Amino acid sequence: LIRLEQVTKRFGDNTVLDHLDFSVDAGKHVTLIGPSGSGKTTILRLLMTLTKPDEGRITVDGQQLFPATEKEVREVRKKIGMVFQQFNLFPNMTVLRNIMEAPVTVLGLPKDEAEARARELLEMVGLADKCDARPTRLSGGQQQRVAIARALAMRPQVLLLDEVTSALDPELVAGVLDLLRDIARSTDITMLCVTHEMSFARDISDQVLMFDEGRVIEAGSPEKIFNDPENDRTREFLSAVL
Ligand code: ATP
Repeated sequence: LIRLEQVTKRFGDNTVLDHLDFSVDAGKHVTLIGPSGSGKTTILRLLMTLTKPDEGRITVDGQQLFPATEKEVREVRKKIGMVFQQFNLFPNMTVLRNIMEAPVTVLGLPKDEAEARARELLEMVGLADKCDARPTRLSGGQQQRVAIARALAMRPQVLLLDEVTSALDPELVAGVLDLLRDIARSTDITMLCVTHEMSFARDISDQVLMFDEGRVIEAGSPEKIFNDPENDRTREFLSAVL
């Protein structure tokens, strides 16, 4: 479903991704792990078209994302939802409006349908009673649940998760991870996650990719990567974080 071919991304002299190749099959859950600065977040940002590669090719569901025309990019973007570390909710809208906004403005969904979908999603994330609240009145964990509902409201084929629990107080992390585990189990959505939560990565992943210096240095099932890694750098990284 997602394919990166020979993707290179530089910031000045810093080559963040170096002729990177990888693909994610439809319905799979793939986790990116690796040291800080190894380029994991940059990959998600490329898929969200928040930044562009310098070289290479990116396709999603057979459609070009890079190189591509603006119209092609708009079409592909509809298939992808993203949840960020800092929830990025619209502060001046209620929780319900936050979730309805993109389906109405981007997909052209009638308001009543978008509202029904938003209420259903709020129910699913356990926040049905918060629909009229402003995001700033919610806890970080609740805000992140709203952000997840907002991403799902677009019915994306792909969900990108960028360290979604890193900004949360420790006692709020488990609830958000449990919600994501449920979504992984109960939907056929393709997930690409960057996370430092290794037990979560172990639970939900079909495949784990270990990054170092802009390259995938090891890829495999979570059992293989966490129990029996082959690469020394993977072993060092895991012994530091586990
Ligand atoms: P972390 O776990 O800390 O988020 P990461 O593996 O996700 O790390 P990236 O955020 O992808 O790493 O960053 C990779 C490299 O790219 C870093 O060296 C970072 O400083 C650099 N970088 C990222 N965004 C920019 C930018 N907008 N301008 C300049 N350099 C950038």
